[in-house]
Amino acid sequence: MSGDMPKKTENPAPRSVLSRLPAVEKLLSHPHVRELAGRFPPMVVKQAVRDAVSDARGQLKSGPSSGVISEPTLLALIEDWLLKSITPRLTPVINATGIILHTNLGRAPLADGAMDHVVAIASGYSNLEFNLDEGRRGSRRDHLSGVITEITGAPASLIVNNNAAAVLVALNSLAEGREVIVSRGELVEIGGAFRIPDVMEKSGACLREVGTTNRTRLSDYEGAIGSQTALLLKVHTSNYRIVGFTEEVSASELVALGKRYDVPVMEDLGSGSIIDLAPWGLPHEPTVPEVVSSGVDVITFSGDKLLGASQAGFVVGAADYIDRIAVNPLSRAVRVDKMTLAAIESTLMLYRDHEEALSKIPVIRMITMSYDETKGRATRIARRLNREPHPNYHVGTADDCSGVGGGAFPTAELPSRVVTIIPLAESPDKLEERLRRQDVPIVARITHERLILDPRTVTDRQIPNLIRGTVAALRGDTGSQHTNRPEHDNG
Ligand SMILES: *Cc1c(COP(=O)(O)O)cnc(C)c1O
Repeated sequence: MSGDMPKKTENPAPRSVLSRLPAVEKLLSHPHVRELAGRFPPMVVKQAVRDAVSDARGQLKSGPSSGVISEPTLLALIEDWLLKSITPRLTPVINATGIILHTNLGRAPLADGAMDHVVAIASGYSNLEFNLDEGRRGSRRDHLSGVITEITGAPASLIVNNNAAAVLVALNSLAEGREVIVSRGELVEIGGAFRIPDVMEKSGACLREVGTTNRTRLSDYEGAIGSQTALLLKVHTSNYRIVGFTEEVSASELVALGKRYDVPVMEDLGSGSIIDLAPWGLPHEPTVPEVVSSGVDVITFSGDKLLGASQAGFVVGAADYIDRIAVNPLSRAVRVDKMTLAAIESTLMLYRDHEEALSKIPVIRMITMSYDETKGRATRIARRLNREPHPNYHVGTADDCSGVGGGAFPTAELPSRVVTIIPLAESPDKLEERLRRQDVPIVARITHERLILDPRTVTDRQIPNLIRGTVAALRGDTGSQHTNRPEHDNG
């Protein structure tokens, strides 16, 4: 709260000023504070009063000789502190960056139906580990295995906390104390400290690197196979691409090699897409069903990347390997919660009909949104913003590109029409900051001194709040963050 205190000047306050600060006890019995104690937990009110007084004392000691922090000022600070303290820190934001799988912003937004299912399952008891047909203990694995087989073709599956955990438990279960052969071109680091060599080490498996950064051939893998080989691993390089003089071995070639030497093949797909997005102008990426049908024994991928569900890691493939992974105590340590299972179950069910997946899963809908649709949205938003004059800004639209993010399709650019705001009297950083401080924070991006609002990642339901917040920021409103919040949505 020190940021809200009066401005400092050179000379420290004399003792007399400090002694003029209201005492904590006196403030606590003030009618206004007593009223606050009725609205907020009394313990929190006491803490707010103590903090306000000690903050004021600190400020006066190092600060203004003339500044007397009056009782009304202190009372206002206390109330402000209390309002902030009851506002959750985790808050919905409007993603106007155009990056669809923005890890900092929580990756995939959930489909509406998935949210309803989460609420139904999490707000009461459920059959999470209870077999209702037989009236005895069941397994949390059973509920989703049918739909996973249906949409991926994989006979068996296991869901854990995230894909990092999926890779770790799979390596530990199948290769502890033995060797895993990986191409040097695939020893990647994925954001947030997931590095293949480090995960390998933690799993207890030994990394056996083959080939070179840019070229690895089948004969490189074959030459490394020996009595210690437990697994051939293929890793999707996700967030980076090697272009030019390159060569890599396909999953099906590895499968054929594995079969000859009786060594299983695992692929860390990273972002597991169920639908081929090539018809929407994205580069072809192997989908989960394709990798399954190529015969890879164990496939891992994230729940909250292209799949569009919640944070989770999928391990799918041949039943004998998946069962070995499932009984590993490490899998128990990284098991998923009922809320996650509910979100995933509903999302997966939408994939039974690809038309439904395209329209109802937010991530898929955003990726496949046409340029014309983004143009319609950007034009409408700009028109609404221009309904009132903003003399210090030029608000318009321009062609730009959105990105998939999350390590998926790192080179793909989705052509979009975006709203552009050119500040004429301040730097775009200032406007960007005010947008972030609105009641429903708006996260925008800046390109070439222009502030960009990309409508591709903003849901229809968020548009009123986007307009309201942007108009406020254009008027110079620095936002309050804690009072009169507009209704939030999670779309
Ligand atoms: C994203 C990614 C991971 C990590 O997945 P999380 O679900 O974030 O834990 C692992 N491997 C690859 C190839 C990835 O792209």
